[in-house]
Amino acid sequence: MYTLVYSINNEENPKTVYVNLTNSCTNSCIFCLRNQKDDVCGRKMWHDDEFELEDIIEQYKTFANSAKEVVFCGYGEPFLRKEMMKNFCKYLRKNYPEIKIRVNTNGHANAIYRTNVAEEFKELIDAVSVSLNAEDEDEYCEICKPKIPNAYNAMKDFTKSCVNAGMDVSMSVVTGFDKIHNIDVDKCEEIAKSLGAKFRNREFITNGY
Ligand code: SF4
Repeated sequence: MYTLVYSINNEENPKTVYVNLTNSCTNSCIFCLRNQKDDVCGRKMWHDDEFELEDIIEQYKTFANSAKEVVFCGYGEPFLRKEMMKNFCKYLRKNYPEIKIRVNTNGHANAIYRTNVAEEFKELIDAVSVSLNAEDEDEYCEICKPKIPNAYNAMKDFTKSCVNAGMDVSMSVVTGFDKIHNIDVDKCEEIAKSLGAKFRNREFITNGY
């Protein structure tokens, strides 16, 4: 069976549990871990998206006793499996109401679905981390290679939607992944703050964790 639910560093009783919903993404970031390796802590992360909600639940149960937080993350953009994510969030809210739910996203969801996805998830997600990655559109397109038009503005609009929906919102950049791209971190922080989000600079780690 694929790795749908996992912990980092194979902790025995992890407080944070990650969900790998899809291997599809509307970005192709030059620092993406998927370009470097096939696994996280020895767990194979590639799958063909052919699974059911029950498969996620079954894998989650392994961690249910210790988990305090569930993070949709993995080897792809979680909102591309929007309905599956929604159903698993509903399962968690019903059966483990104390669990905090976070999503790490490229922020393209509203543009992809042409609707306010943040509103759809306002009762289901506590926190969202949006990948800002660059201080302007040109740099973003060079680093993230988006496959949808107007992705940079769409990502910022999505962030605002999440703030308006009452979620705890952060934006992040990744720095140090090569010697060519010098992200203007201060400008990125300004952008995040102007949208009502917190800001996080993530130093690139070769192995990803
Ligand atoms: S948005 Fe995330 S999953 Fe998608 S290519 Fe970039 S780093 Fe990889």
